[in-house]
Amino acid sequence: MVLAANPRASLEGQHFYVVVIGGGINGVAVARECARAGKQTLLIEQNDFASGVTSRSTRIIHGGLRYLEHGELNLVRESLREREKLLRDKSHLVHPIHFLLLLNESSERSAMKVRAGLWLYERMAGKPPSAGATEMELKRLERALDAGHRWSFFDYEDAQCEFPERLVAECLMEAVEAGAVVRNHMEALAVNVAHGRIHGVLLRDHITGRDERVDASWVINCSGPWADRVCQRSSIRMNKPMLGGIRGSHIVLPRFSGSPTAAIYTEAVDGRPIFVLPWNEQVLVGTTEVADSSDPAQTVPSADEVNYLVRSVAQLFPKAKISGQSVKHAFAGIRPLPYSPDNRPSAVTRRHILHDHSDDGAARMISVIGGKLTTAASLARDCARRIGLHATEPNTIAMGPGPALDPLLDDAVLEIARIGAVSEESARGMLEWHGKRAADIARTALVSAELRAPICPHTSHVIAEVVEAYRREYAVTLADVLLRRVPVALSACWSESCSREAALRIGAVLGWNDHTMGANLEAFEMERAAFLRPAAKAEAALEAAAD
Ligand SMILES: Cc1cc2nc3c(=O)[nH]c(=O)nc-3n(C[C@H](O)[C@H](O)[C@H](O)COP(=O)(O)OP(=O)(O)OC[C@H]3O[C@@H](n4cnc5c(N)ncnc54)[C@H](O)[C@@H]3O)c2cc1C
Repeated sequence: MVLAANPRASLEGQHFYVVVIGGGINGVAVARECARAGKQTLLIEQNDFASGVTSRSTRIIHGGLRYLEHGELNLVRESLREREKLLRDKSHLVHPIHFLLLLNESSERSAMKVRAGLWLYERMAGKPPSAGATEMELKRLERALDAGHRWSFFDYEDAQCEFPERLVAECLMEAVEAGAVVRNHMEALAVNVAHGRIHGVLLRDHITGRDERVDASWVINCSGPWADRVCQRSSIRMNKPMLGGIRGSHIVLPRFSGSPTAAIYTEAVDGRPIFVLPWNEQVLVGTTEVADSSDPAQTVPSADEVNYLVRSVAQLFPKAKISGQSVKHAFAGIRPLPYSPDNRPSAVTRRHILHDHSDDGAARMISVIGGKLTTAASLARDCARRIGLHATEPNTIAMGPGPALDPLLDDAVLEIARIGAVSEESARGMLEWHGKRAADIARTALVSAELRAPICPHTSHVIAEVVEAYRREYAVTLADVLLRRVPVALSACWSESCSREAALRIGAVLGWNDHTMGANLEAFEMERAAFLRPAAKAEAALEAAAD
């Protein structure tokens, strides 16, 4: 069907000290931590790494300014510390971003309280106060905002990871380098439980169609919003659910006249906080909070949510004339928050919980509930300690060989361009998405003109990146590549014709026949449409809501 670059040897009968179920940000971080502690580790993911809620987030690496409102000071402290580490160790993927908190005269939040909160936030981060927006930026923004209001602006700094999919891919490679065995498109059908403890996991390999059984000393359930489902299918009985799923939706708009260059944190039409962010040369607006206990794989934004986000951003920027038709696409994910039926969604703690299943008749199994992109590494250390492993020191980050290459440095760009005989733009793209591995990819590109060719006519990312994704980053399907390892299909101008062109160029290098090409393309388009609900569907949803 597709190129499986890494042969999938059977796992039947093998013993692993730890089996990690779920390859989102938390699962890859836990697998990396356990493998670094020297334990035989297996990480399995039913679809693709990072295809769950991790790729449906707002993509902010934040200390959690909002958690201050709920008095979660320890969580803010931990998040700020982890944010700084990501800024340092993954500087090609995680970059500082300037935030403007906007309030108008009808806001219920008092300016004094906000100022005090920001002062505390910056103190806790141990950084000098943010330099602030320039006069010109503020003027430009003021011109675009609704002139009928009196706006107050508050500056602060946080960070953004435009592609958490790439963060997961790198963490995955680090887990593999530390000795973990990893398998995507492999589902945990059930955890085997007998005599009050777990013994292993029954797996289904969706590529080979085989069912395999592995033995395990520990199982860590990192399946995010699927965590209760994994327990149910393993007949692990609990007196209440672990999760109270809260759906969050986003819309993606093309840049519009006056669209902000800073990240905007403001209030939606109902006074809830929302973000309007520059993202991937587009504008990302989110999010909502709607209780949702349906299958997380099927979750989509409702008409009401799309409408709410459109109205909120249109009200903020009336001159841009934003309507449902402006929406390029919309996507949704379920926050795997702890079950907390008595709390408003915004008041449910964002701190992670490690649920030990000893009292549920399944000793040596832990379910991870909650967590953030920002705090995945510290969650993984907690998890390792909980199962008696020696966790890595918070400040040691073992990375692949070679010094860091900074995509902002022209020298690094020139060096990659020279190694791969590619344009400076392609070299910069490689550095931004692949960091230290850019040099290896450039060497692959050097082999032929086909490998140096762009993936589609509108991108500077090249076919060599795709080949490396199949070869070394455990991509199996075209969607694994174009949505997550080399996520060009998230870009502003991607269309069906780009998909066809990309499949042709990739297929030519990988030797696909017509049938393989057709199957890859069809599966890719289906997955893209299921994730990024196209504008037409969002529009239909809006019309339905208006009826
Ligand atoms: C709308 C929204 C906005 C957010 N914004 C931010 C933000 O800006 N910053 C931030 O830090 N955090 C944010 N978060 C939170 C963050 O995205 C999540 O907490 C985090 O991604 C959870 O990662 P995870 O690995 O636990 O779950 P997931 O990424 O969902 O990973 C779980 C994986 O388990 C797999 N799986 C499930 N069942 C099985 C099985 N039986 N066998 C094998 N695999 C299985 C799934 O396919 C899935 O890939 C946001 C969340 C949402 C919903």
